Amino acid sequence: MSGTLRVLPLGGLGEIGKNMTVVEYDGRIVVVDTGLSFPAPDQLGIDLVLPDFAYLRERADDIEAIFLTHGHEDHVGALPFVLRQIGERAPLPPIHGGALTVAMVRSKLDEHRMKDVPIYEVEPGKPVETGAFSVEAIKMAHSIPDSYAVALTCELGTTLVTGDYKFDQTPVDGVPADVSRLAELGREGVLVLCGDSTNVDRPGIAVSESSVGPELERVFARCEGRIVVTSFASNIHRVQQVIDAAAALDRKVSLVGRSMRKNLNIGRRLGHIEVPEGILVGAAEVEDFPDEDMVVISTGSQGEPLSALRRMAHGDHPQVELHDGDTVMFSATPIPGNERAVNETIDRIYQLGADVITARDAPIHASGHGYAEELKLMVNLTRPRYVMPIHGDHRRLRLHARLAEAVGIEPGAVFRSENGLPLEVSERGARLGAPEQAGMIFVDGVDVGDIEDVALRDRRTLSADGIFIVVATVSAQDGQSVAAPEIIFRGVPFLEQTDGFVDEIRSAVDDSLARSAKEEVHEISLLQDHLHDDVARFVYDRLRRRPLVLPVVVEV
Ligand SMILES: [Zn+2]
Ligand SMILES: [Zn+2]
Repeated sequence: MSGTLRVLPLGGLGEIGKNMTVVEYDGRIVVVDTGLSFPAPDQLGIDLVLPDFAYLRERADDIEAIFLTHGHEDHVGALPFVLRQIGERAPLPPIHGGALTVAMVRSKLDEHRMKDVPIYEVEPGKPVETGAFSVEAIKMAHSIPDSYAVALTCELGTTLVTGDYKFDQTPVDGVPADVSRLAELGREGVLVLCGDSTNVDRPGIAVSESSVGPELERVFARCEGRIVVTSFASNIHRVQQVIDAAAALDRKVSLVGRSMRKNLNIGRRLGHIEVPEGILVGAAEVEDFPDEDMVVISTGSQGEPLSALRRMAHGDHPQVELHDGDTVMFSATPIPGNERAVNETIDRIYQLGADVITARDAPIHASGHGYAEELKLMVNLTRPRYVMPIHGDHRRLRLHARLAEAVGIEPGAVFRSENGLPLEVSERGARLGAPEQAGMIFVDGVDVGDIEDVALRDRRTLSADGIFIVVATVSAQDGQSVAAPEIIFRGVPFLEQTDGFVDEIRSAVDDSLARSAKEEVHEISLLQDHLHDDVARFVYDRLRRRPLVLPVVVEV
């Protein structure tokens, strides 16, 4: 037993999203989760943010398997990109996950036109042998069915990656987290615990998912007009409870939003959701029923730009027109970063005359992540030798480290890592190793690029300060300006009020060209550089702004 176990987080630490953890023994790799995150407001024109997985590309030959804890985008979203890149270098490793995870990932891979990917459903209690590791899935409760923790056992010991979890005692599907298996692992000896930190800052215990249904029904009963409920489409148990509450009050249900309908179909096929006969109504028929007979379940709980609810809020949905008497219920809370979009959506809904009820007004939402007491329970059940908090920003990782110490883990055995920083464990002990490449890569349409992307900086400049295009025509002989420079500008703030400014720029351009001609600068790109610097300085002096300056020099 001379080997070293390495637990290398490539995403999800110091941030919310793009979770990815590499577990490695004797050079053989198992990847747990391949998540993505969504762009911040200043990442203009970027569609998706992925973890930088150069490490996996380099080590493609050594990857024995990929395990997915559950089907949320921050755990599976990067999979097509990861597979495409490692597939260029080695045969694809087998991918394992719960039944719903597998179904959702299959449909995602279909959209990416990726066929023949080896995906398998895990069965709790039946470990998968990968070579270096025996990998076992342990049932957990979360806001999406078929969520699992992953226990990876090598000859040195067991690493437990919890995935997202809560210890819900009364989950909607009646199957709580497998507490007894966790305790058993603890008795057998857990070497490293990597635990979800999302709700470490909330004291106590998260309320049970099954408490939401009766609350929904209570609020529904008070509504006289149409009801629109928005929630995550993947929260199939929540959708079930909305349908049950509607059925209890003799209302019909219509699902709007593509992912809502898609997940309902997958959930029905897997037996995760039961829909009473005759209750579902197509989106096109919503207006045919009296308002007091309808419940609409909609995507858009995060204020996503193209979602059904956002379109309703802007009076732009083809089937559902919000009006006086409607009630829109947010059965979800905004993920950090989405608050503004959600608030804007809410205010638009008020403008249309409808009412809004959020989780702050009534207990119509339950978090899928356990609170502090549940995180303590996890540590106490598994009694790990070492703890490495994952899945949280720096504040949450720190709080989680303190929490582990509070329940008796020695401070020296708690490791606060970051993306790219591996925890290395051998028989002699544990320490953080040398950093590996980690960070983020952007997906812009179909292109995948890195963070140094100049395009992003230009987009930021364009959105803030606009652009000047300067077209100068110079003589090929002596570099003298031979025609009045043309100035085109777009999106430059407050320029309208600055009369004669364009004429002033023109003369600044002429001055710059004259100076270059005197210095005998003839090379076009150099001329353009000088012109850029001179014009940019002039504009900054006058406007105190830094628009993008694009010089075009034409020789005649
Ligand atoms: Zn997550
Ligand atoms: Zn999750």
